[in-house]
Amino acid sequence: MADIDCIVIGAGVVGLAVARELALAGRETLVVEAAEGIGTGTSARNSEVIHAGIYYPPGSLKARLCVEGKQLLYEYCAARGVPHQRLGKLIVSASPEQTLKLAGIAAQARHNGVDDLYQITGAQAQELEPALVCDAALVSPSTGIVDSHGLMLALQGDAENAGAQCVFMTPFQQGQVLENGEFLLSFDGAEAMELTARCVINAAGLSAPAVARQLAGQPGALIPPAYYCKGSYFTLSGRSPFSRLIYPMPDHAGLGVHLTVDLGGQAKFGPDTEWVDGENYDIDPGRAADFYAAVRQYWPALPDGALQPGYTGIRPKIVGPDAAAADFLIAGPATHGVPGLVNLFGIESPGLTSCLALGRYALDTLEQTTRSV
Ligand SMILES: Cc1cc2nc3c(=O)[nH]c(=O)nc-3n(C[C@H](O)[C@H](O)[C@H](O)COP(=O)(O)OP(=O)(O)OC[C@H]3O[C@@H](n4cnc5c(N)ncnc54)[C@H](O)[C@@H]3O)c2cc1C
Repeated sequence: MADIDCIVIGAGVVGLAVARELALAGRETLVVEAAEGIGTGTSARNSEVIHAGIYYPPGSLKARLCVEGKQLLYEYCAARGVPHQRLGKLIVSASPEQTLKLAGIAAQARHNGVDDLYQITGAQAQELEPALVCDAALVSPSTGIVDSHGLMLALQGDAENAGAQCVFMTPFQQGQVLENGEFLLSFDGAEAMELTARCVINAAGLSAPAVARQLAGQPGALIPPAYYCKGSYFTLSGRSPFSRLIYPMPDHAGLGVHLTVDLGGQAKFGPDTEWVDGENYDIDPGRAADFYAAVRQYWPALPDGALQPGYTGIRPKIVGPDAAAADFLIAGPATHGVPGLVNLFGIESPGLTSCLALGRYALDTLEQTTRSV
């Protein structure tokens, strides 16, 4: 008999959503987290945007889980009193050449099941947002913002009410698949221990590939490399001149230096993209120069000196700068052949929006496994 049914490694928004789903399904669940509390990693260092599901390749997991996750998230936030707002967003084109690409973005969104986008002229955009200068814009009414920490507290509360337990300052060290199919895992730190489990869900975010490599018994060749792509944010001193989220056209590694507003009305710009080697969250104030240039493409009146260094986050990429953006990689037994193991790799944006859908997907993956054992 294993000590426990399911162990979730990582208490970010995804690990907590998975734990909630497992616990509500009646599975005995332990969440093991290296840090001192929930959500201190990427889940605390992002734009807090509820994405509509516009940009992702049709049929991809990102497209499916974002669109499903958005719906689930709005319902969940309303039911559980998690602060959120459906502000809407404008995707703005800076030139007639860029405007030609808006139709393609709208078509891709429709393929993904996002059929409420509509295009407006630059003048119409300016009526909505007087400070905005653009050639044209796509309006996305279903885009919004959420209090990510409030969301994680609600997920943790649901999971614990359904019987799950969370332990902190307890990093997973290593593990192996035993002959009977169970997992033997060892943890360091406050709750240093060895445990056997029937199932392991690796939701370790940036460290998910490293965690997988420390879990012997799965084919190493199927574990993706980890690449880190840092994004810096600069905050705006003073009142936000915009009431909606403003996004330039997406670029290769991200969504461009966009403007988001938090639930307190504070405007911030970012994230930019910077490929880095390690987990260092310092912000380089010198990056502000590029921000002024990028933001003035759509807000020429941005005053000198208005941007303050804010914070940074790191995207957990599984392909490098020269490759096309990868999909979420949710590796269950159909991928690696190990029953009871689910690795969640490359859970970058829209991972926050998709968290509830990712939770369901991980449980489905696990139950297929368990049935086939
Ligand atoms: C700059 C940026 C902007 C973003 N903006 C958005 C957005 O607006 N909307 C959106 O939908 N998504 C956004 N995302 C994506 C979103 O933030 C992530 O997809 C999501 O937070 C990932 O959650 P997670 O639980 O997988 O990872 P994390 O939050 O990183 O959690 C992983 C946890 O695992 C723990 N851990 C690691 N190793 C171990 C170990 N050995 N043992 C135990 N625990 C371990 C870590 O301490 C951490 O708490 C953004 C991401 C970035 C970087």
